[in-house]
Amino acid sequence: MMNAATDTLGRPLRDLRISVTDRCNFRCPYCMPAEVFGENYTFLPRAEILTFEEIVRLTRLFVGLGVRKARITGGEPLLRRELQALIRRLAAIDGVEDLTLTTNGYLLPRAVGGLREAGLHRITVSLDSLDEDVFKLLNGRGYQVAQVLEGIRAAEAAGFAPLKINAVVQRGVNDHTVVDLARHFHGTGHIVRFIEYMDVGNRNGWRLDQVVPAAEIVQRIHEEMPVAAVAPNYPGEVARRFRYLDGSGEIGVIASVTQPFCGDCTRARLSTDGKVYTCLFAGTGVDLRGPLRSGASDGELLATVTEIWEGREDRYSELRTAETAEMPSFSKVEMYQIGG
Ligand code: SAM
Ligand code: SF4
Ligand code: SF4
Repeated sequence: MMNAATDTLGRPLRDLRISVTDRCNFRCPYCMPAEVFGENYTFLPRAEILTFEEIVRLTRLFVGLGVRKARITGGEPLLRRELQALIRRLAAIDGVEDLTLTTNGYLLPRAVGGLREAGLHRITVSLDSLDEDVFKLLNGRGYQVAQVLEGIRAAEAAGFAPLKINAVVQRGVNDHTVVDLARHFHGTGHIVRFIEYMDVGNRNGWRLDQVVPAAEIVQRIHEEMPVAAVAPNYPGEVARRFRYLDGSGEIGVIASVTQPFCGDCTRARLSTDGKVYTCLFAGTGVDLRGPLRSGASDGELLATVTEIWEGREDRYSELRTAETAEMPSFSKVEMYQIGG
């Protein structure tokens, strides 16, 4: 194993998020608004998307620099053909201790058996609300909650329980449904994690007043189902944990806006077309696909990634103000390109 890399703020490289497609079957307004991503939208042509060979090769190099966790994301990762084959190869890499997938859950019933068999360790399902009208609005395609709940049941049956259920909370959109969501999964073992709505990308018209602070979310749940804070599972865990006082499980909150955690941010992101981003809010990524396809050696690629990480200074969320976040001229990568 090679030397672990640390950045200019002393942060090690530990996690890699791999976006395997820029396509999605949902049109969540905060990520891929239907009016932008319509019938005629041009997604990446096949030739521009990293092949499984390329993803596996890059992941091995990242593992050499310290990565221990890999998360497959997108777009909607279950739309990538033969995903199982990629998972099988990633799971076999020595040093990948945790291999996870984030999905909107819709295609899980047909895919999940194969994912399990291929060696995937864990699944996170995104589900912003159980309220039918709110959910229809939030998936942008009129899909029903039952279809995602069926995906969750399929994941349980395939042996993936407990799951993490991620919900992005927006004031005036779904914040009135957070307690219901918590109640639904209370006692099931699954952990709902409420995420503050972030100013990712340039297309969702984010405003600070749409963010519901994590403390407020916890308070609303606490009033109905009392909770107490719990210590993190490991140093640098981004979700803050709270356990129900009745002993029936826990919830988490990810306070990316009100209590940023850049000091503990150990994630690199690989976009569908092979660029490395060292921050969710980065304006540009560094292309690895070009060098990969023009015959760069492992040593050369490793030197490039090391240089990227060692030069990293990102701490966008700690520096964010309402002004910087709403500045239209500041161009950021879009969430569907790097997957969160
Ligand atoms: N399609 C998959 C899904 O929805 O789970 C994986 C990709 S999606 C981009 C990953 C996560 O990013 C989802 O949980 C989604 O809710 C979250 N997300 C997208 N835009 C966001 C934003 N502006 N603020 C916070 N989370 C966001
Ligand atoms: Fe698709 Fe996930 Fe983005 Fe929603 S959040 S549009 S499900 S990629
Ligand atoms: Fe990491 Fe950038 Fe988010 Fe800070 S703002 S936690 S550096 S991704």
